[in-house]
Formats: sequence, C-alpha cells, structure tokens
Amino acid sequence: MTVQTAEGKTDLKSLSFQGLCEFVRALGGSDHNAGVIWRQLYLADVTDLGALTGITRALRAALVERAYLHRLTPAFVLDSHDGTRKFVWSLPEGGQIESVLIPDSMPSRGRPRLTLCISSQVGCAMACRFCLTGDLGLKRNLRPSEIVGQVQQVREQLAPGQRITNLVFMGMGEPLHNLDNLIIALGTLFDDAAFNFSHRKVTVSTVGLVPQLRRLAALSPVSFAVSLNATTEEQRRQIMPITRRYSLDELMRACRELPLAHSKRITYEYVMMEGFNTSDDDLERLWRLMDGLPSKVNLIPYNENPDREIRRPSADRVREWQHYLVTRGVQTSVRHTRGTDISAACGQLGKASLGEQIPEAALG
Ligand code: SAH
Repeated sequence: MTVQTAEGKTDLKSLSFQGLCEFVRALGGSDHNAGVIWRQLYLADVTDLGALTGITRALRAALVERAYLHRLTPAFVLDSHDGTRKFVWSLPEGGQIESVLIPDSMPSRGRPRLTLCISSQVGCAMACRFCLTGDLGLKRNLRPSEIVGQVQQVREQLAPGQRITNLVFMGMGEPLHNLDNLIIALGTLFDDAAFNFSHRKVTVSTVGLVPQLRRLAALSPVSFAVSLNATTEEQRRQIMPITRRYSLDELMRACRELPLAHSKRITYEYVMMEGFNTSDDDLERLWRLMDGLPSKVNLIPYNENPDREIRRPSADRVREWQHYLVTRGVQTSVRHTRGTDISAACGQLGKASLGEQIPEAALG
C-alpha cells in the first residue's frame, strides 16, 4: 500500500491497528507500545510524534525518524444559513476535497443528531450522468489517513458539548471503489480505542459495485445505502453506467443476500428527476422492487444546477410518492435539501475542486 512519502516515511494514520503493531515491532517496540501510541493518536489527538508519552525515548526517536502524522490542509469553511457547514481541504497535488457537517433539521427527542458526510476519493470514476462529481473523473483514491482525518479535524472544530453522531460516505467519490483504504479507515472509526463509532451510525453509500458490496458486508456490519435512482435496467443504464457491469437485477439479488445485520434494512436512495423517473409507472415499479425487502427508501428531489438541464419534481409530487410507499408498508423519508447556498448539497460536491470558484466569503 502507498503509505510512504518521498522521504520514505510511513503515514502512521493510514495503518490499521494491526499494521501499527507490525510497524512498532519492526522498530523494536511491542504491541503494548502500539496500543499506547494508537490511543494517543485518536483519543488524545496528538499531532506531533515527538510529543508521544508512555514509550521509551528510543522508540519515540525512531518514530520521528521513520513515520509522520498526516494532517489535511484546510482551505476554507463555509456556513449555510440552515446550519450546514462545508469544510474544504486542499490536496498537496492541487485540487480539493470536501466534508459536510449537517445538524439535525428536526431535532427529535434525545441527543441531537450531527451527521458528517465525508469523501472517499478525489473525483469519481462512476460517471453517473446527473452528478457533478462525475464530471471530474477519478483523480485518485483517498488514503485511510485522509478519510479518518476528515472526521478528526472536523471534530476539533466542534463547539464544546457537540459530538458527531453519524457518519455517511456520501461525499465525493465511490467508497467501494476504494475498498482497501475504506476497510482500514472503517476499522479505525469503529475501534473503541479510537473513534468508537457504532456500526449502525456509519453508512457507506454506493452505486452498487456488487463484489465489493458483498466483500465489505462479509467483513463488517456497517450500514449500507444503495443509490438506486431507477427501476428498470434500461432506465438505470441511461444514468448510471455501472449498470452495464452489474445489472440492477444482480444488485438487488446481492442486497437481498447480504448477511442479516445488513439486510435488516438497507437504504435505497432514489434521486427524483422530473420527466425521467417520476411517473406513476416508476412509482409502482419502485414499490414492487421494495415489496418484502427490509428496506428504507430515501427520496432525494434532484438538486438543480446550471450544468444540467435536469429538473426536480414539485414538492407535491414528492409527498405523493412518499404517501404511496408509506401506505404500502415501505418506510420512506424525503431528503430535504441542505446547504445549497454553499454548494454542499448532494451532487454539488466537486464544483469547488475544479479550482474555479473560491467563494467571496472564503476570502474575507
Ligand atoms: N458514489 C456513492 C456515494 C456518493 S453519495 C453513491 O453514489 O452512492 C451521493 C448521492 O447523491 C447519491 O445517492 C447520488 O445519487 C446523489 N446525487 C448526485 N447528484 C445529485 C443531485 N444533483 N441531486 C440530488 N442527489 C444527487
């Protein structure tokens, strides 16, 4: 794996705990030492290897010489009037990635939800026709340190008492197309001596890379969201080229066969595009696809943008769809658009990474 810099130093936060144990052993330390270091990286947020405590001076010196702690470079933060915050990070090779913090719009009883939407790749290779990130193509995969770094560095900026409660891999990129790095990052996010997220609170969203979906499901009881967006092979092929590789039929079969922890409830995202996939026939087909499946449907009215002719359906039509599905026993939510004023909504990530538009707010 590429976890070394040009100077040959090891990117410590791109290692799994197992990987860190091996690295520390090679430097003459023990697994106990690795545990002491691991906790300082993720529980104490140590940012300087020279500041590590509880290990010998010799081991600390070896770590300083042979390893480094990756930090993302913040470019700017944008605040939406609805409370959504977008964090934009600059990459060393140029270009940017983004993370979006979304407070609960309707705080229910109990602890308020604070969801962080994170990126898994720079750009994306999936080329879904309606999605702006697809226009970038794939630049590269994010390393595990860059994935967990988004969570750690956003966490640093929270107000006292605030806590990220949910993580969604719905930012830039196709997480299952960067599976090895995703698996390491998830290990760190779930580890109780690191981020300690519950599996239920972390959702990996995918276009439906079937073998990778099966592989990740077998390894980890993470929650899944599948970007369905169409109800026939032909219709889905038109907007999601991945359907040529893995048919809708194959994808639905894989979803039905996932181990129980997952198949309890997979979320199916359905971006509603007026005149394309919002007819009565579409609705009936969607219901038939979901019928008998332990599923949740998330209807996402299309976020319009100047680069596409696609229109969102009326709010009435969206409500009609939700009502139809709910009355037939399909749990259905509507994703209310958040953060459009800062280009942080679904399908809007990636515009800034073209490096064209640094918003005025960021320059002040
Ligand atoms: N590649 C993964 C993760 C990205 S999630 C996946 O596709 O699931 C991004 C979500 O936003 C996807 O469900 C996608 O279908 C949706 N989306 C993309 N462009 C959109 C737009 N303009 N309006 C609303 N949703 C959009």
